[in-house]
Amino acid sequence: MSVSTTPIKNIPITVAHGNGIGPEIMEATLLILKEAGAKLDIETIEIGEAVYKRGISTGIEDSAWESLKRTKVFLKAPITTPQGGGFKSLNVTIRKTLGLFANVRPCVSYHPFVQTKHPLMDVVIVRENEEDVYAGIEYRVSDEVTQCLKLISAPGCQKIMRFAFEYAKQNGRKKVTCFSKDNIMKMTDGLFHKTYDEVAKEYPDIQTEHYIVDIGMARMANTPERFDVVVTENLYGDILSDIAAEIAGSVGLAGTANIGENIAMFEAIHGSAPDIAGQNIGNPSGLMLSAVMMLVHIGQAEIGSRIHNAWLSCLEEGLHTKDIYTHGKSSALLGTKEFARAVIERLGRHPTSMKPVKYNTLTQGSSADYYRQASKATHKKLVGLDLYLADWEKRTEMIASVCENVGQKVGVPLTFISNRGVKVWPDGSAETFCTDLYRCRFMAAKGIEISYEQIQALQSAVLAGGLTYSKLELLQDFDGVAGYSAGQGE
Ligand code: NAD
Repeated sequence: MSVSTTPIKNIPITVAHGNGIGPEIMEATLLILKEAGAKLDIETIEIGEAVYKRGISTGIEDSAWESLKRTKVFLKAPITTPQGGGFKSLNVTIRKTLGLFANVRPCVSYHPFVQTKHPLMDVVIVRENEEDVYAGIEYRVSDEVTQCLKLISAPGCQKIMRFAFEYAKQNGRKKVTCFSKDNIMKMTDGLFHKTYDEVAKEYPDIQTEHYIVDIGMARMANTPERFDVVVTENLYGDILSDIAAEIAGSVGLAGTANIGENIAMFEAIHGSAPDIAGQNIGNPSGLMLSAVMMLVHIGQAEIGSRIHNAWLSCLEEGLHTKDIYTHGKSSALLGTKEFARAVIERLGRHPTSMKPVKYNTLTQGSSADYYRQASKATHKKLVGLDLYLADWEKRTEMIASVCENVGQKVGVPLTFISNRGVKVWPDGSAETFCTDLYRCRFMAAKGIEISYEQIQALQSAVLAGGLTYSKLELLQDFDGVAGYSAGQGE
């Protein structure tokens, strides 16, 4: 009896060989992929050092974008960023341009074959990749004060939470932990935490827990085995994923995926290691494991599992590259090419003391349009204005007297003045250190809506009173809920 199997179609991918050890570890990785039977049509693009040096500040040419947007899958070797100013981070550019909203970083210890203080660690960090302070919106607002906007959106939170829970479900993970700082940032981190709670309800089989990020990070550093999947915001995730990879003892072994709704990028977490370039001693494992994540992403999970298990077998047998070689423990010191060969020779084998992997093909559940609808308020009400005045002389009383008059005239009273978020009028403390930037809050009585004409009148009257402002924020209620934080000490 003959069994008919549908042949797997070749999937087009874009590959960049990068700089430093990039070409060596990419060559090793592609050889392993080929020998394992990965079905790929490879397009090669150039990125990094040479492109930067041709005067392209992003490190990537238009023709390369064309390939990425067509294949939608990018396997990237590390690049060297030239020293000196004017060069933009290629990774940040790619992430933002292609909407790669989720960064996935498995941090695993390979005890006792690779040294680690945390033998039981097996954590996946899911980091939101597009929002937060990485939006890159910064201002110098006065002589003394600079500002960086932290943006957290409802669709952004929904996408990352949905991704984290789907990832957990499809990979047989038991728990998703959320890290945020919503005790302090009640609106931004509050939205992140609230969305986590909402999405979690749809996954009753997955355990949930939330940590304030500082204690969460401390626990990760001390007892990482208590965590399974951790979902967090961009900045916290940036720090956390480096801590987690470092304590796993596997920085040189870790791969990462940057996933978007349509496009995904896979790479090692380390850089281009120019100090060891061209010597056939770089460890290809990080890039190879990111290629395994790529295979899972494009529906070739079985081939991904084959490669990963062969690689675990090498580690167990003590076949190590220089970076993880230990006298007395390792059995052979292998170069980049020889290590790739050793993996290829073990395709089809499973590790005997470490747990073998078995990947399932991931499907992504996300619909930003739905979430956009769900977060719309039916009733928005303009209720006030925060006006930021830059004043070198730091004359709180003078500012207060002008603004009180202005507020009364326009019918939107001055309610408080704060400096760096601390109330300095009325009833400020002499101990409060003041910079040159004062926030004056004008607000109608509770429940009263004000008009844009009143907002304009407030601005004009403040200028007419001899003060200048450098920034303003409208205060709005969304379905009766304040869309602004209260002043500290208010
Ligand atoms: P690095 O990760 O390249 O190297 C740090 C140390 O780890 C070096 O001693 C290096 O030899 C070693 N190392 C790194 N990967 C290794 C591997 N696979 N096998 C064996 N040893 C390895 O970090 P760096 O020196 O700070 O940066 C070098 C260059 O890489 C810089 O130009 C930096 O901008 C760039 N970089 C690129 C990426 C990327 O493309 N994603 C990420 C980080 C750094």
